Amino acid sequence: MGDELRIACGVFAAINFANQPIFSHIYWGLRAQNHRGHQSHGFLTYHEGKFHVHRSLDLVPKIKSSAIQEWFGRLPGNVGIGNVRYTTSGKCDEKSLIKGTQPATASKNGFKLAISFNGNVVNTFKVKKEILEEFPDFSYECDAELICHKLLIELMKGKDLPAAVKTCMKEIDGAFSVAGITKDGKFFAFKDPHGIRPLCAGHSEDNLTFAFSSETVSLDINGFIRDFELEPGELVTVSKEGFKRQKLVDGERKAFCAFEFAYFARPDSIFDDKYVYEIREEFGRNLVRENPQVTKDADIVLSVPETGDDCALGVHEASGLRWERATRRHRYVTERAFILLNRERQATIDRKVNILPPKIKGKRVIVTEDSIVRGDTTKIIVEKLRRMGAKKVYLFVTFPRIIGPCLYGIDMATYGQLIGSTHTTEEIAKTIGADAVCYQSIEDLVKAIGFKSDELCMGCITGKYPTPVAQKMADAMKTKFLEGHEVPGRLYEIEETLQNI
Ligand code: SF4
Repeated sequence: MGDELRIACGVFAAINFANQPIFSHIYWGLRAQNHRGHQSHGFLTYHEGKFHVHRSLDLVPKIKSSAIQEWFGRLPGNVGIGNVRYTTSGKCDEKSLIKGTQPATASKNGFKLAISFNGNVVNTFKVKKEILEEFPDFSYECDAELICHKLLIELMKGKDLPAAVKTCMKEIDGAFSVAGITKDGKFFAFKDPHGIRPLCAGHSEDNLTFAFSSETVSLDINGFIRDFELEPGELVTVSKEGFKRQKLVDGERKAFCAFEFAYFARPDSIFDDKYVYEIREEFGRNLVRENPQVTKDADIVLSVPETGDDCALGVHEASGLRWERATRRHRYVTERAFILLNRERQATIDRKVNILPPKIKGKRVIVTEDSIVRGDTTKIIVEKLRRMGAKKVYLFVTFPRIIGPCLYGIDMATYGQLIGSTHTTEEIAKTIGADAVCYQSIEDLVKAIGFKSDELCMGCITGKYPTPVAQKMADAMKTKFLEGHEVPGRLYEIEETLQNI
């Protein structure tokens, strides 16, 4: 279930070369990725030189089949992009949320662009300053608007798409996985030079529809075949002949977010030929190997659903402990706790997870959890287990201790929010009321994922960030934090820190 984190967005985009309406593919693509953000959603299609847009708050709604023709009428065209979002940049009031809902668009002097984006811009002020020179009224509620306007400015300078994207890749610091449409209906996608956030490509069996998606589950739901994960610094355009791949920026190290594997991605998504669930099962086996004494002292394993489920199976396999399905999720309470506002969180956990006392009473329990951020969600769960009679509660946590903020699109932006930045593992156990907290080691995490350690971003668990501005910013924030000053949480608010960089 996770502690209390939020990710920025999920992207889905597609084009059909038989001139069939694309809306239903975009719709299902977003439904499959609603776990990546449910504060707002949006669809944009392109038809006869015009963008058609629908943006709204909340989950992607159910659409009755009787209403589908109406939606096709509202969102016509054979090419489209969609986005589900939780805000990690911009303000959180309702007006701002609506304004910040993607896809983002920008236009000037006959130039026009629409994009759907997942990530976070780190050098916000530098990019914004440049945009304001060309768009004096530019107001900013979402990093997608920054990327969209910056790219449009480069196109307005007369650059072709690869040259314009390359400039963005070189001048924007941060994580950005983008799918977009130009004023001519040209369909494209690209990733930042470190490839921090996911974005994959796939096509339909009849070779007429081509798509980009944050996760492979959205290709699956549309019946598409997965082709490849975009490389860092790669631009991909699409024609009837298929994908055209161009590596625009070389020499930077790949830095795919390690947290995707522990928490964000759906277990049935694939990254680089491995299902996320397989990796999570291995996390469980690793935790048993790393903690023989604790394992010996336990009677059962149970998971915090659903991100702890696959790990629990791994624990069961490696230890022989019975995996008790003692925590049951309410099927129709779908919100992930991390993407809710603070005041809603505790009540939602209670509503969402029901614990079965007969399975726990008098037992020494290992609980598998994906991560501990603030610690308050985990504390609630430990307290519940104790109230229901658990004799001992041990936590097996798949993601190593989080010691620093994420500047790339996960809403854990300050040191003060993170229990792991100020507490040792033993102190964390005491604070949340567990008998022990056992984090998976970084070495085993990397081995299970199957990437080389220098191909992953692990900034929040090692303090080493892959992009230079993020590193400087994290260091400056840490210095201030240790001096007793907390820098505000969102990147656009960290003006003082930025100005000193
Ligand atoms: S800092 Fe952590 S959460 Fe953020 S991108 Fe890197 S690994 Fe992922």
